[in-house]
Amino acid sequence: MNDVIVIGGGIAGLATALELLRQGAHVTILERNRCGEESSWAGGGILSPLLPWDYSDPVTQLTQWSNCLYPGFIQALHTETGIDPEFHASGMLVLPGFSNHPEEVARQDARHRIAETWCARHDLATRMVHSHEIAPALALDEPALWLPEVCQVRNPRLLQALVLAVEMNGGTIIEHAEITSWKIAQERIQSVATSRGEEYAAASYIVTAGAWSRQLLHEYALKLDIWPVRGQILLFKAQPGLLATIVLQEPDNFYLIPRRDGYILAGSTVEEVAFDKHTTVPVRKELLEKAHRLVPALTEEMLAGHWAGLRPGSPGNIPVIDSHPFVTNLYLNSGHYRYGVTMAPGSARLVSNMILNKPQPLDVTPYRWPA
Ligand SMILES: Cc1cc2nc3c(=O)[nH]c(=O)nc-3n(C[C@H](O)[C@H](O)[C@H](O)COP(=O)(O)OP(=O)(O)OC[C@H]3O[C@@H](n4cnc5c(N)ncnc54)[C@H](O)[C@@H]3O)c2cc1C
Repeated sequence: MNDVIVIGGGIAGLATALELLRQGAHVTILERNRCGEESSWAGGGILSPLLPWDYSDPVTQLTQWSNCLYPGFIQALHTETGIDPEFHASGMLVLPGFSNHPEEVARQDARHRIAETWCARHDLATRMVHSHEIAPALALDEPALWLPEVCQVRNPRLLQALVLAVEMNGGTIIEHAEITSWKIAQERIQSVATSRGEEYAAASYIVTAGAWSRQLLHEYALKLDIWPVRGQILLFKAQPGLLATIVLQEPDNFYLIPRRDGYILAGSTVEEVAFDKHTTVPVRKELLEKAHRLVPALTEEMLAGHWAGLRPGSPGNIPVIDSHPFVTNLYLNSGHYRYGVTMAPGSARLVSNMILNKPQPLDVTPYRWPA
């Protein structure tokens, strides 16, 4: 019998499975479609909250700890699988909004002071620059906040590496296996059934079904608050080097993420449209205009893609990483909302520690399952 069944093969499920496999557990992932093709694939791969000073301590604690784990996590994956997830510190340049209105300029100055104080307190390097020092392709040369240590990862490559590493470490991945029901007796899951009529059993079960987690858990979700939030992204094919750093523009948090081979991601929207994953024409136009306005060299002719993903939304962007309040062998690692790629190694370690009865390196009470 399996020690652990992981339900959902996005970044949360794959990273959790790998962590448990490395600790010696027998693990099977059951994935409804194919692994790594939902939100985790659709995301941008920035390894930081967009404006970290706007978030609560539980988000800061988990993202910062996860960031500490990232170099080792990537190094091990790269060495083991030969796949390079392109993890690197591209830095992030935070630009003020386009408005020159004195009130807006004063507000921006105040925001920059808050940001600098926060960064100093959290050991994150920062300095005020003129934007062309860092990114000459920008339309405007204006005062901006430069965060040189912010990293990024090419998330589709990271997912490929994780799938391979799970298999290389002896994990079983079963795709096209949607969990449709649970057999529960004596406050324990006895088995789960898939849409194909098969049953699987394990000592423990972890739900990592992203935006679908609440739906999947039905009445066992209790007061769990996870909902789908659509994000759309445009992809440009530019000359390598046009942009070397992530650029983020306040106040609407529009961003450009350059990859090393010249691709640039432009995003993203935050839309509450239930489980609708379609892209839309107005958003294509809006993102294209914003990208061109920020970097005039980005034009419609360079468009190479447009997609949408469903983030697992959660109150305050705080995930639930916990055991179920009364089903004793059921765990959840979900609700990472906008930062599931950033939080993946940290969350995987926390939920694995719970299952393996290991001590936690940080206070996990903020990530409790609401009953
Ligand atoms: C546009 C966009 C930009 C983003 N940018 C960033 C970023 O820059 N940095 C960052 O850190 N994060 C970013 N994110 C957020 C991040 O992508 C998510 O938080 C993260 O991917 C969530 O991972 P997950 O594994 O929980 O969910 P998913 O990747 O959605 O995986 C869930 C999996 O569960 C499976 N599943 C669902 N129901 C069942 C079932 N009944 N049975 C079996 N399997 C099931 C699904 O098929 C899916 O494969 C972004 C997201 C989007 C959409």
